[in-house]
Amino acid sequence: MSFFEYKNSVQHIEQLSVLDLAQRHPTPFYCYSAGKIQTQFRLFADTFSHLNTLVCFAVKVNSNQAVLSLLAGQGAGADVVSMGEIKRALAANIPAQKIVFSGVAKTELEMAFALEQNILCFNVESEPELIVLANVAKNLKITANISFRINPNVDARTHKKISTGKKGDKFGIDIEQAIELYQQANSLEYINVTGIDMHIGSQISDVTSFDQAIQKIKTLYFELKTLNINIEHVDFGGGLAVQYEEDQPTEAQLLTQYAQVINRHAPDFACQIIFEPGRFITANAGVLISKVIYKKEQSNKTFLIVDAGMNDLIRPTLYDATHKITAATKKEVFESVDVVGPVCETGDYFALDRTMEVVGQNELIVIHTTGAYCAVASNSYNSRPVIAEILVQGDQDYVIRKAQTIKDMIDLDIVPACLK
Ligand SMILES: *Cc1c(COP(=O)(O)O)cnc(C)c1O
Repeated sequence: MSFFEYKNSVQHIEQLSVLDLAQRHPTPFYCYSAGKIQTQFRLFADTFSHLNTLVCFAVKVNSNQAVLSLLAGQGAGADVVSMGEIKRALAANIPAQKIVFSGVAKTELEMAFALEQNILCFNVESEPELIVLANVAKNLKITANISFRINPNVDARTHKKISTGKKGDKFGIDIEQAIELYQQANSLEYINVTGIDMHIGSQISDVTSFDQAIQKIKTLYFELKTLNINIEHVDFGGGLAVQYEEDQPTEAQLLTQYAQVINRHAPDFACQIIFEPGRFITANAGVLISKVIYKKEQSNKTFLIVDAGMNDLIRPTLYDATHKITAATKKEVFESVDVVGPVCETGDYFALDRTMEVVGQNELIVIHTTGAYCAVASNSYNSRPVIAEILVQGDQDYVIRKAQTIKDMIDLDIVPACLK
């Protein structure tokens, strides 16, 4: 079942027309399908239901409380990278025992909070982090369960800004150092070694990268076993790609290939397997709805100037990402345009030289695959308030994040009395 379909040539999200939604909510806004989020999570989790697994949604991808609550209801755990994300996960009723804490720069404050909550595991990314964690744990007299995030030195064959598992990336521990660190950790008070962790990057569509990395993790797993170091879980991270463009494989196809890799290796691990999918769960469950403000013809180019900007959606300029863009009302005629925003930056674009449907002033466009790494990275650059997020379930729509107001923005600033 598709949750994003045309009905009478109008884009619908579940049972609601984008035209109706835009009557009720000022553009631009993000809009998610609850059914699609749920379906994607189930698809992933059910694919591995024959194994002993825990699926921890990567909260940084889409940390809206409504989205997290929906996933909590499906039994999801959480992969978090800050105290803010731990608090978000807990507030959405994700149990602490399903939370794994990743990130290269955990502070003592964050560690102490996570320890007091009794989270499932710290994914430790360096020796200095291990030492600090051991101290914090000792002071609190609370044992920290840890994995080391291993950098397996594989090429994830993805965009350079989202590759994390190659030598020289800031993430994880070089695999050559792993045994030594595991032995050190095993000798520390208040540190309980429980796992091995990896996360090699994002938007990975060549599953041989996972295969190579897991093979290396497996070698380490067996070495640790012979050293009597207890491994209760291996965490294969996230990273599975989603379909942004029509000529790319579908998520179902990628998941099948990924599952073949996992199923081949899983019998060798006599422990729980943790996954940290993010993009896969929510990317194609969200769209950004925006309105054309002006159409400008100049130097043999047509610019579609829309009311969303790079402050709302930064992926095209940050990652060279291609997002499919369609007209809210299906058109039969096409033209080549640059879709750009109002922000005073040349990098403020959503598509360059894109052949798309002819859309006129005041008409609506739909920017697809924006349910992951989009709203979470929005900001108020150019004093443009952070936009709303809407959730659609069946024929109901809910505001799940209010748009910031200009007053909200101004009120955060403080003018010292001497300047008044
Ligand atoms: C970002 C991140 C994820 C999620 O990656 P996706 O590509 O969105 O699946 C998982 N684990 C860690 C440690 C991350 O930083």
